[in-house]
Amino acid sequence: MPELPEVETVTQGIRTELINKKIKQVLVYRRDLRFSMDPKFEKKVIGTKINKVSRRAKYILIQLDNNITLIIHLGMSGRIAIENLNNNERIFKHTHLEFITSNKKKLKFIDPRRFGSILICQTNNLYKHKLLKNLAPEPLSPEFCKNYLLNSIKFRKTNIKSIIMNQLVVVGVGNIYASESLYKAKIKPNRIAKSLTSKECDRLVKSIKKVLKRSIKLGGSSINDYSLVDGNLGFFQREFEVYGRDGKFCRKKTCKSRILRIMIGQRSSFYCNKCQK
Ligand SMILES: [Zn+2]
Repeated sequence: MPELPEVETVTQGIRTELINKKIKQVLVYRRDLRFSMDPKFEKKVIGTKINKVSRRAKYILIQLDNNITLIIHLGMSGRIAIENLNNNERIFKHTHLEFITSNKKKLKFIDPRRFGSILICQTNNLYKHKLLKNLAPEPLSPEFCKNYLLNSIKFRKTNIKSIIMNQLVVVGVGNIYASESLYKAKIKPNRIAKSLTSKECDRLVKSIKKVLKRSIKLGGSSINDYSLVDGNLGFFQREFEVYGRDGKFCRKKTCKSRILRIMIGQRSSFYCNKCQK
């Protein structure tokens, strides 16, 4: 499933390629995505200019110059590809939508499982949209800080990993990034949330930001004229400190412990019993 860093990478890719360009042509092959597409989609979109491309949680927001914003979610298996029109076209199975833009690019929305969606919303009501109105803070925003986390864990007897993965606390910290951040912050994933000290909260917030930023940076470097998110872990994968490394030695040279795997909320969690407290 594409996680926040992958979605951010794709957002940046779309921005780089298509900002200020006109959408000349829209081809819709399937409308029955997770949410059915607006029957007047083509009519509302053809001839508009792309004014702004941004991201909120795992939603890609493409703001057009006619007070319409497209809300794109990649679901479980969604991908976006951008190609030059005059190149030999790569054919992808499960392409449900294509945009052709004024700079001779083609954007494709590909989604084998069709859990993704492309919705239309009035830009001036964007943050009243049911998908966007109740979202928690962005992990990379200043709002997500030590004091915010301290407040969120008060009285919480659940484990800290579930808290940072809770979309009502902070958006976009998926399973992998939660394990990686907790390792970096030297906190065990199954620690009772409210037992974290102020110092530990500070470390954890900083670690989450660092891990996500690093992953976005690695993803961003692979974007050329062809951008793609494929739901595989891609770029960041080679750098995992704990995720998927159970039984292997901890990366800290002096540690000599092996990484352990436990289940928390039906998700695999990886940690070092010695480095993490
Ligand atoms: Zn260790």
